[in-house]
Amino acid sequence: MKCRYCSREAIEIINGKAYCEEHFSKYFLGKVRSIIDKFNIKGEIAVALSGGKDSAACLHALHSMGMEVKPFYINLRIPSYSEACEKKAAQLCDMLGYEMKVIDVAEYGISLEKERKPCSTCGTVKRYLMNKFAFDEKCTCVATGHNLSDAVTFAFNNLANVNILNFRGNKPYLEGKEEYRMVAKVKPLYWLKDKECMLYTIINNLPFAEEECPYSINAPTLKIKDWLHALEGEWPNIMVNLAKSFWRLEEMMEKETNINICKKCGFASYGSICKFCKIRAKMEKQEK
Ligand SMILES: [Zn+2]
Ligand SMILES: [Zn+2]
Repeated sequence: MKCRYCSREAIEIINGKAYCEEHFSKYFLGKVRSIIDKFNIKGEIAVALSGGKDSAACLHALHSMGMEVKPFYINLRIPSYSEACEKKAAQLCDMLGYEMKVIDVAEYGISLEKERKPCSTCGTVKRYLMNKFAFDEKCTCVATGHNLSDAVTFAFNNLANVNILNFRGNKPYLEGKEEYRMVAKVKPLYWLKDKECMLYTIINNLPFAEEECPYSINAPTLKIKDWLHALEGEWPNIMVNLAKSFWRLEEMMEKETNINICKKCGFASYGSICKFCKIRAKMEKQEK
């Protein structure tokens, strides 16, 4: 099949339209651009790297659009996995000419090994440290590699677990709040599916870790994702529509939530002490 824009061979079909390599890249960057423009993103962006394909695509896309970026990696000390991921993230930064900052959770006395629900603790720790990094570095926002598949999967997983409050923070852009030391967050890949991010990473020869996190193997979210992608095959654009619906729901809910300042660390919190400080306190106790 030929590309719909030129005479070259197509490499991908999206919503019934065929794209060659070059026009696929244009399509991809156009989707990223639409998020950057809509939310008027500028200044220095802290880009969270996980070592995986999505954050690699995210950094590369922002870099090739000429945005000012500061990549960083959070080492979660997950045996063998974290090291492999850090290596790929560092290779990517070398390739694009950036210095990569590394944040080590061990410096905060945190370890996921003894956790009963490591994924939930990991999520809290990552969100906290990403925000702290961007705040300390005076960046205008944090960019993560969350894509369309992640956003819709996350929302369905919360529905499946009656976790409606967790809908917060899933939309493509969250405004910063200076008084709560909350830095704005953006998901530049919000309109792009897993497969598209993978293709972009491969076309651009970006290094990425193929290992899955040992804690996420057999996670129900992987099944939800497969189900959504199968559905999308029969009903093109359903994922974009779902994401838009969840986004609206989140905005309706936001009007009702209160934020406080954590008494221990001074960053934003829903209770009087934030979840991150609670995790630290619990782990300190375990040490003794
Ligand atoms: Zn083309
Ligand atoms: Zn705190």
